[in-house]
Amino acid sequence: MSGKRLYIWLKDEVKFKTKNGKFLSLGNIYLTLRTTFYYGSFEYPRGSGKWYQGKHTPIITKELFDRVQEQISEHIITNQSKEFAFTKVMTCGLCGSGITADEKFKKQKNGNVHRYIYYTCCKSADKHCKGGYLREEDLVEKLTELIDTIHLDEIGMKEKIKTEIERHKQFNVGILGIKGETIKVADVDIRNYAKHVLRNGTTFEKRELIGCLKSKIILSNKQVNIVL
Ligand SMILES: [Zn+2]
Repeated sequence: MSGKRLYIWLKDEVKFKTKNGKFLSLGNIYLTLRTTFYYGSFEYPRGSGKWYQGKHTPIITKELFDRVQEQISEHIITNQSKEFAFTKVMTCGLCGSGITADEKFKKQKNGNVHRYIYYTCCKSADKHCKGGYLREEDLVEKLTELIDTIHLDEIGMKEKIKTEIERHKQFNVGILGIKGETIKVADVDIRNYAKHVLRNGTTFEKRELIGCLKSKIILSNKQVNIVL
């Protein structure tokens, strides 16, 4: 099954719902399929390169996980399943059109496929607009710098931080066997958390974060600006 087929199967046939009573989004499904935790290993903190073997009983084998990863990357290449985090919140600073994204795949020597994402003006207002391209890595760097001046929907962010803290607590106590002191939501710097999501989050998490932004983001000739 493709991710999309899996999504339809879970929603329409199985009618599977999360503990919050919602159907899984396609982003959720890809996130689940990429989670190493189910075969026993996890990286903590994420992106650190420090891998642990959990004490829990795996529900899938590493072999199955690897086969799924192959299937997913093939599927992404053949079906061009496009998921971009930042398109909806940005506007072209030159002509006022929306911003669209495109992706390119490069196969590396070790066989891995690297996905490059470019953002650009969609040219609906001016088909000759010279908005230019900006790579997602550069966009993330610029957004991270700008996050100190962005208005965040604090309440929305706090709910997400609570979930994140709960997840870390489960890792520490249940898997690493560490009894740490409890972190309170009030102690977490919302802006630092937002920067962490921008750098290390999945497309799904970044999109959720972007949903909390109260500002408009303007993209013009590789420059990123915020309108308050
Ligand atoms: Zn434009």
